[in-house]
Amino acid sequence: MFNANAPKQRLTGEPPMPRSLGRSSFIAIAAVLQFACGTPTSESTSAPRDGQGASTSGQATTQRGSRSDRPAGTAGTTAADPIPSRCGDERDVLLHAYDTQGIPIDLDCADFTKSRGTRSLTFEAIFRVTTQPWALLRDPLLAPSDKWYGLDLLIEAYGAPRVVNSSYRDPVRNKRAGGARRSRHSFGDAADLDNATKSLEEWQRMWTAAEKASADYIEPLSGPCKLNCLHADWRNHDGGYRP
Ligand SMILES: [Zn+2]
Repeated sequence: MFNANAPKQRLTGEPPMPRSLGRSSFIAIAAVLQFACGTPTSESTSAPRDGQGASTSGQATTQRGSRSDRPAGTAGTTAADPIPSRCGDERDVLLHAYDTQGIPIDLDCADFTKSRGTRSLTFEAIFRVTTQPWALLRDPLLAPSDKWYGLDLLIEAYGAPRVVNSSYRDPVRNKRAGGARRSRHSFGDAADLDNATKSLEEWQRMWTAAEKASADYIEPLSGPCKLNCLHADWRNHDGGYRP
């Protein structure tokens, strides 16, 4: 039975929670909710588990640990906090923000994109450029529908075009907006799909489509989106950032 208040955790294999929830269930749900758009959570469960995402760790750590005399930018920083120059563009600011905010992710310049999309969505349709032009979009989000997961399959399962309200949120923008330090949006495997009618019916249809698209986490109605959008992410699927 569909339950709009039940967060989805595919890895546990548990069905949606029953409508009558005990105190322990409530605490469990509250803990799960911390993983989506909400508050910071533990590294072991929120960090990407894909091998590719961490494949550049040694190189990235070494390079980011060495500081350059030439700051690459000033957004989100102060004069006392020079930004190491690695990519020579806005990506240096982003990489620096991940470091300074202690977000557990290993990235390289090539992990960011200005153009990747899916078969049904262009880059611009997925990523609403705001503070800077680069996005981090993990393969599980962009997977072709014949992989049986991802955004394209969700839209295919829904059966009509969907507007992506938000996908990648860089740490600079995320912090400025007061977002969670480890939001899946900053890891690039989450999307908030617009609920055009703001109706429960449309939201439930998207929820069902997200489940068919094997989303690892589908935010319940009590999450930040409420009825305005549906958050789904593929945090536990393998896959890095490069095609
Ligand atoms: Zn979201």
